Amino acid sequence: MSVNRVYNFAAGPAVLPVPVLEEAQRDLVALPGVGMSVLEISHRSKTFEAILAETEANIRKLAGIPENYHVLFLQGGATTQFSMVPMNLLHAGQMADYIVTGSWSDKAVKEAKKVGAINVAYTGKAENYVRVPRQEELKLTPGAAYVHVTTNETIHGVEFHKLPDFGATTVVADTSSHMFSRPLDVTKYGAIYAGVQKNLGPAGIALVIIRDDLVKEAAAHPSYALLPIMLQYGIHVENKSLYNTPAVFAIYMVGLTMKWLLEQGGLAAMEKVNIRKADKLYAAIDGSGGYYRGHASQESRSRMNVTFRMPNEELEAKFVKESKAAGFDGLKGHRSVGGLRASIYNAFPEKGVDDLIGFMKDFQKKNG
Ligand SMILES: *Cc1c(COP(=O)(O)O)cnc(C)c1O
Repeated sequence: MSVNRVYNFAAGPAVLPVPVLEEAQRDLVALPGVGMSVLEISHRSKTFEAILAETEANIRKLAGIPENYHVLFLQGGATTQFSMVPMNLLHAGQMADYIVTGSWSDKAVKEAKKVGAINVAYTGKAENYVRVPRQEELKLTPGAAYVHVTTNETIHGVEFHKLPDFGATTVVADTSSHMFSRPLDVTKYGAIYAGVQKNLGPAGIALVIIRDDLVKEAAAHPSYALLPIMLQYGIHVENKSLYNTPAVFAIYMVGLTMKWLLEQGGLAAMEKVNIRKADKLYAAIDGSGGYYRGHASQESRSRMNVTFRMPNEELEAKFVKESKAAGFDGLKGHRSVGGLRASIYNAFPEKGVDDLIGFMKDFQKKNG
């Protein structure tokens, strides 16, 4: 690219692969063989149907998603899924368990409570969300309708590296900020959802992967017909995400990103790079003699959102300001954690991590 790009550490919307942006730019005015922009074509056209089908096929290929799971592209972000999940899967007389490991799972609980009976099976709030729970800390409900888990907490930088044992209970996961950063065994879950603007594409859609029997069970429930139609999983399954006008451009961009992921060697190859990037950044934090301090505890550290503090808020503000001037954008942490946050998603270049580490060392030398 001829233009100068900064290192974008934003949590979302976030960095996209440069080849994806270049292809979108090249074909923006007219898709090859179509003569019009993807921004202008009908969502009922053959062209768009092919884009949608290929995007779904590549998502299925990347994660080895079995036939009995549906892949949906819905609007309203991951936030709408906070409501849709309990509206479809939680019924009168049932209980749903929620594991609260940060701000996003806390928000999911607040929405679910409006719909039905919720048991908070674990909350890390008292420790300001520094870790995932140990198995023995979980207060799970036998026979729960489902257990909801946020597998990567974007704000606190806390990630599950292994799913707890939930027995036979259906697992529903918000995977927004680490979706496809590592291999994913879909069969461990009843439903998975992710706002795509973190690791899969631009803002505009949530990717939902849901098992067929859960969709059918929800639709068979007497209260289902009373749900707003846009909030029924079944309608989107029946219409293959084309019940109403979908976010055509966002789906197209996710499609390009999936092709890029396959070119990189898929999820296992991506995971290797992500481990390398995260390991060296955490090593730099840990090797700073306490100047930089990681927020999350060692075993729960996120590979995608690296949260850390500095000796005081003045230095943190100075770091944000000077790093921005040096071409490192979006490092200011979320106000609920403070400090710094480096989001290093799939598309974030390894060289950017190396350069940040260099900047951190320099900054410490001058201000330590
Ligand atoms: C960003 C984020 C959300 C909210 O996504 P929207 O698409 O903005 O609704 C939910 N959960 C997690 C883990 C997130 O990172």
